[in-house]
Amino acid sequence: MSIEKKENELSVYESMAARYDVAARKLGLDEGLSTYLRTPNREIIVHIPVDMDDGTMKVFDGFRVQHSIARGPCKGGLRYAPNVTLDEIRGLAAEMTWKCAVANIPFGGAKGGIICDPSKLSNGELERITRRYTAEILDYIGPDRDVPAPDMNTNEQTMAWIMDTYSMHTRHTETACVTGKPLDLGGSLGRREATGRGCMITADEALKRFGWKKESTRVIVQGFGNVGSQAARLMYESGYKIIGVADISGAVFNSSGVDIARLVEYVEKHKTVQGFDGGESIGVQEILEQECEILLPAATESVITSKNAHKVRAKILVEGANSPTTPPADDILFERGVFVIPDILANAGGVSVSYFEWVQDRQGYFWTEAVFNERLKQIMVSAFDGVVAFGEKHKVNNRIAAYMLAIDRVAFCLKLRGIYA
Ligand code: NAD
Repeated sequence: MSIEKKENELSVYESMAARYDVAARKLGLDEGLSTYLRTPNREIIVHIPVDMDDGTMKVFDGFRVQHSIARGPCKGGLRYAPNVTLDEIRGLAAEMTWKCAVANIPFGGAKGGIICDPSKLSNGELERITRRYTAEILDYIGPDRDVPAPDMNTNEQTMAWIMDTYSMHTRHTETACVTGKPLDLGGSLGRREATGRGCMITADEALKRFGWKKESTRVIVQGFGNVGSQAARLMYESGYKIIGVADISGAVFNSSGVDIARLVEYVEKHKTVQGFDGGESIGVQEILEQECEILLPAATESVITSKNAHKVRAKILVEGANSPTTPPADDILFERGVFVIPDILANAGGVSVSYFEWVQDRQGYFWTEAVFNERLKQIMVSAFDGVVAFGEKHKVNNRIAAYMLAIDRVAFCLKLRGIYA
């Protein structure tokens, strides 16, 4: 079987498991414990009856996978898409466990999904799907059990509906049962920028290691949505030289630096970077292969594969997106000496902000944005240092180091707790 074939055939769970197995072996985990840690605690499948606007009734399938409660309540997003599968949700739930452990926040991982096409559903239909899904999983979620958050095609409004449904059943307003809520319903300041800011903080730490200056550090960002646009803007404002930006419909390249402030305005108006006059237009794939110090994929999964990993000319890869690199591409990047800041570290600003929102809701006391940003920095810097130190100690790349650090932390908690029988 060719490496490409294997790569295409790997499911989300298998990709996670491939890396997990390497890390667990290097840690010398006992086989039984290793199997237990890789396996989700609980997988819930629900069938959601919904009255549609046209008078018919439809049944939608939904999932919630709770991977681990060893370190605290489960935490993870809820996605709505026509191609959601249980296997995908299972893999993403496990990734959340490792991400929370790398960030050293007191959560385990979960993920949820509903098979539906939100573009073909009215607001009312979406609300009814969301509320019934919440009611179906009600016994398994809550501030001390499992705390959902937005993911693909879900947003603040979805979280408000979940919070309200949960609160109606518990007979009191319980804001801490979800995160990513509107600011007026217990949401947190700083959330919009947090994932992009976290990416920048890890890049800053890498720069310190290499002794590089921001002004001469060329950055290419793929994806100009929530994560990519905030990372590009913050990095631009702090002195990095952003030489390329791509989104799904086009890419712009300027070796003297793209004016990100102007690009943000352009994208607000035109909804794409395509056609921006502050640089030359270039292929969406081609931009990944340009010479730069930092490549920051913040778009989607599997954009760096065994087909193009050997063409990547960046020295540092900051994985803003989830799973932008396939396992076979990992090996190629490692052999070529690329310093990879893996997704479970680079984009952990996202789950850290969820943690902060949960803490603030439970305290009923809300922080200023400055306090929020300072605490985010502490988490990201300490996670970065932890991963790099683990990698150096065990002589493994940063991806495996991040997995090892995470698995080690979860296994340690599990050993302290013991197995209840
Ligand atoms: P988004 O939908 O806001 O933006 C995605 C951007 O990527 C858009 O600009 C889109 O045009 C572009 N894009 C999509 N496919 C592309 C392709 N093939 N080539 C080039 N550009 C492409 O999404 P987001 O919230 O910014 O999330 C981006 C990634 O980061 C996802 O992998 C997500 O899972 C991950 N992530 C997001 C957060 C968060 O806080 N939003 C947290 C952790 C991880």
